[in-house]
Amino acid sequence: MEVINTIEKVRVIIAGAKSAGKSVGFVPTMGALHEGHFSLIRAARQHCGFVVVSIFVNPTQFGPGEDIDKYPRPFDADIKACRDLGVDVVFAPTDQQMYPQKNLTWVNVEKLSTPLCGKSRPGHFRGVAVVCAKLFNIVQPDIAFFGQKDAQQAIIVQRMVADLNMPLKIVVCPTIREIDGLAMSSRNRYLTPKGRKDAVLLYAALQKAEVFIAAGQRESSELISEMEKILKISRQIKIEYISIVDARTLNELDKVKGKVLIALAVKIGQARLIDNIVVDVK
Ligand code: AMP
Repeated sequence: MEVINTIEKVRVIIAGAKSAGKSVGFVPTMGALHEGHFSLIRAARQHCGFVVVSIFVNPTQFGPGEDIDKYPRPFDADIKACRDLGVDVVFAPTDQQMYPQKNLTWVNVEKLSTPLCGKSRPGHFRGVAVVCAKLFNIVQPDIAFFGQKDAQQAIIVQRMVADLNMPLKIVVCPTIREIDGLAMSSRNRYLTPKGRKDAVLLYAALQKAEVFIAAGQRESSELISEMEKILKISRQIKIEYISIVDARTLNELDKVKGKVLIALAVKIGQARLIDNIVVDVK
């Protein structure tokens, strides 16, 4: 496995793999790798002859006052994990490599970037989209792997690829959870022991909504108030949003029907956590 910091060098190595007839699978990450990331890497390993993982804490997707400075960077452990998983190349560029000058070009995926997390994180998704566009241009993968955990991000990246005719396929892999249901996240390490206990309520709330839907409830407002009841069991949990939207358009739904995304974001102490489920409602 090679660990590469420069765009020039990564391009040469990937071009070599391509000319040897290998398909390139790509897993973009911000590091602090966990089982969620590993599942994407395993999927890439399974589908592609050459696997590239990027580790880059992308400054353009963090807003003022967000956690970019304290974002965990356990680089050596990440490299070891990638090696153990059979990754071919880790691309870990510096900020200077990725943004040698203040970029004036953004990718703004309209409509999909404004609801849900877009409300409280203005500019976040144009930062995500621009860094993905840059990484796709650098790595030129055949397939890029994303997690359902960040549902809105996956939808936005898929739309960007379609709208801009980017020559790659996006595969979205299921959310990997701890045994008690908490979605794995690099940000879980910000939780205190008490916060970690209460964090199980996120998935419990989503499951409650699913149970109510199975029992015939179709009113989003009723489902949201049931979910609020669960989250309010913890006084530490500050709800940012609970949204029930069409899983394709992200339009809010008064009544659930079809493929429905139920998504939430909360703060528990210092940690901002998100989670979601998709329910197919007949
Ligand atoms: P991040 O390093 O947080 O930017 O995430 C990199 C990729 O890993 C994104 O496509 C995430 O959606 C995905 N990911 C993060 N957590 C999980 C998880 N618990 N299950 C599946 N994918 C995940």
